[in-house]
Amino acid sequence: MHATETLAEAGRLMTICNSCRYCEGLCAMFPAMEQRRSFADTDLNYLANLCHACGACYDDCQFAPPHDFAVNVPATMAKLRRESYDAYVWPRAFSGVFARNGLVIATIAAAAVAAFIIGFVLIGNPEALFTAQTGPGAFYRVMPHNTMVAVFGAAFLYAIVATVIGLRRFWIDIASPSSPLVDRPALAGAGHDAATLRYLDGGGDGCADGEGAVKDRRKLYHHLTFYGFLLCFLSTSVASVWHYAFDRIAPYPWWDLPVVFGTLGGIGITIGPAGLLAAKFRRDPMLLDKGGLGMDVAFLAMLFLTGVTGLALLVLRATPAMGMLLAIHLGVVFALFITIPYGKFVHGLYRYLALVRHRQEQRTPA
Ligand code: SF4
Ligand code: SF4
Repeated sequence: MHATETLAEAGRLMTICNSCRYCEGLCAMFPAMEQRRSFADTDLNYLANLCHACGACYDDCQFAPPHDFAVNVPATMAKLRRESYDAYVWPRAFSGVFARNGLVIATIAAAAVAAFIIGFVLIGNPEALFTAQTGPGAFYRVMPHNTMVAVFGAAFLYAIVATVIGLRRFWIDIASPSSPLVDRPALAGAGHDAATLRYLDGGGDGCADGEGAVKDRRKLYHHLTFYGFLLCFLSTSVASVWHYAFDRIAPYPWWDLPVVFGTLGGIGITIGPAGLLAAKFRRDPMLLDKGGLGMDVAFLAMLFLTGVTGLALLVLRATPAMGMLLAIHLGVVFALFITIPYGKFVHGLYRYLALVRHRQEQRTPA
């Protein structure tokens, strides 16, 4: 007996695939499946998070609809992945947010932008909001640096705690009792697999796009998004070092590291999510988890808006538009941070843990 209909369907598919095994060379999920004779719910959650949704096994499957077996591994695993985030979420009261994710994130983003604008007017310096500010400390005349650090530090800390608790619950379910606490080779190997998106290549041909041809544009857009996000994070980290260690106050000139990293990162998280969104709407609907569309679109839209508003702020930072752009940018970033544990952001972290487990299994078959 499985806990949900999706788990039951995934169990049915894995039983068929385990007899067929035609797709065993396509990705990590099929070899992991072959190490099992039966599929408990925890196994299925693990397999679902190993699947990278490349779509190749649907294209290749002789039992796909309209065959009576109706085998559709990518769509079923996508749905199960989303439901697994719900199953492990912290606090439990927020389970269900993933199903209404688009509406929740849009509401929080709009409220956050409004709160920053109102906060700038009521608490900050209303005059600075509509007049050009230049020189060191220009941003902090609109919102004091300490207030900015306190607001974003609290949001980030909450996001980390909630995400780590969820990930820990997932890991406890999928780990072997004999797994070492810190398994450096598995952690490093999975890091390599994740950083290169090794299993998003459909066994070598690239992502199936549902039109018969196989291209790997989704892999490219994923890379732009992921490394763009890392560069933005690096930009903020370097700026903090400049501020606290060297007493160098933002805004920085265009050639300085925070601006260079932020600009490249901003371009990455603008082009990457836009490409992924376009690819999503071009894809064969049979490959998609339709219930997760709101979550996917909300996450990509938030990253895109973070990139666009950040770049606009960079270009117009010496003009009277800076104050309003800062409010919009900070509102979007705040909403992105606070919803990290309840949105598509977590998919990379769950998948990383599944890849760590897979590395361990390859070494020591389950
Ligand atoms: S997806 Fe289809 S072809 Fe591939 S292993 Fe499963 S049943 Fe066989
Ligand atoms: S969709 Fe791609 S990654 Fe997922 S199980 Fe099929 S071949 Fe593997």
